[in-house]
Amino acid sequence: MSFAATAAPFAAPHFETIDCYYCGTRTYRPMLLAQDDLTGRPGTFRFVTCDCCGLAYQNPRIPINEIVDYYDDDYIAHRKQRDWGVLTAAYTRAMDKLDARKDEIASRYVQLDSASSVLDVGCAVGSFLRRLRRRYGSQVVGLDFKDLSSHPFASEIEFHCGLFYEAPLESDEFDLVTMWHFLEHDYDPLRSLATARRVVKPDGRLVIEVPRLDSLTFQLFGDRWPGLQAPQHTVLLDRDRLHKFVEKAGLEVVDYLPYGAFPAYFYLFTGTAFRLLNGRGLNLRKAIYPYFLGHVLLSPVLLFEKRLNLAMQTVVCRRVP
Ligand SMILES: [Zn+2]
Repeated sequence: MSFAATAAPFAAPHFETIDCYYCGTRTYRPMLLAQDDLTGRPGTFRFVTCDCCGLAYQNPRIPINEIVDYYDDDYIAHRKQRDWGVLTAAYTRAMDKLDARKDEIASRYVQLDSASSVLDVGCAVGSFLRRLRRRYGSQVVGLDFKDLSSHPFASEIEFHCGLFYEAPLESDEFDLVTMWHFLEHDYDPLRSLATARRVVKPDGRLVIEVPRLDSLTFQLFGDRWPGLQAPQHTVLLDRDRLHKFVEKAGLEVVDYLPYGAFPAYFYLFTGTAFRLLNGRGLNLRKAIYPYFLGHVLLSPVLLFEKRLNLAMQTVVCRRVP
C-alpha cells in the first residue's frame, strides 16, 4: 500500500504562527525544516526552539480544522485491518503485540480489574481498550479527534469524538488515563495535561508515551527523524521538558522509562528509509519485507532496547497531593 499513490491531492495548507506551548514566549530561533516523509506529500514544515525555555515545536503550524485532513483513512494508527491484504496477519500480530506492551507497562502502576475505569486519550481504533475490557472487564472510555465510531472495535468502548479538554468527562473518574503518542500531536498540551489531572482519581495514574528528542535516533537521523512526523507532530519533547510539562500541569512524576510500548525499531527502520527516500514517501507494502528482515538482523541489539535510549520515553504521573 503506497501512501504516496493513494493520498488524496491536497490543497496548499494555511499556516498560523503560534507562541511557545510551554511559556508563551513569541520569539524563537529556527531548528530544522522537515518534510512529510511518511506519505511524501509536498510541503516543508519548520520546527523552532523557544528563545526563553528552549522548547522545540512546529511553528508555523497548520490550523486544527485543516490538520484533521492529514489524519485520513491512510493514517497509520487508524487503518482498518483488512486494508493490508496478504499482510493482514503480520500487521494484526504487530498491533496485538503493541497493545500487550501497553498493557504490561500500565499494569505495573495500576491494578486493573472489573472495578477499574480507564481512559485512553487519542485512542485511534480502540484496540488497546478492547484488550483491557476483554482481559480485565474494566470500564473503558476512548477519545479521539477523528471520528472512528464506525470502526468494528468502537462498539466495545465508550467513544468520545472531539478535543480532550472539551469532552464532557466527570472529574475524579479514572483509575488510569493513558496517552500513547498523543501529547506530541496536541494543539494545547498544557490544557490537555490539566484535563488529565482533573479526570484522574486522586490515587490514579497517568501514563504518557512520546518520542524522545534527546535520543539516539534523533542524533542519527536529524531532519529525517521519524519522531518529527511533520506536519502532525506539534511539539518535540526531551526528557527534561516532558518532566517540566507534567509538573506545570500539577502532576508529579512517579516513574520515568527511557523506552515505550512503541517499538524503537520502527524509528530505526523508517529513519533509514526516510534518509534514502529523501522525501519521496514510504511505500509500506514494499517496505514490509525489509522491515521484518531488518528486525531479525537487529534482534540482538533490540534485546537491549530498554537501556539504549533509542527513540521513546514514558512518564508515569499522579496528581500532586
Ligand atoms: Zn518557551
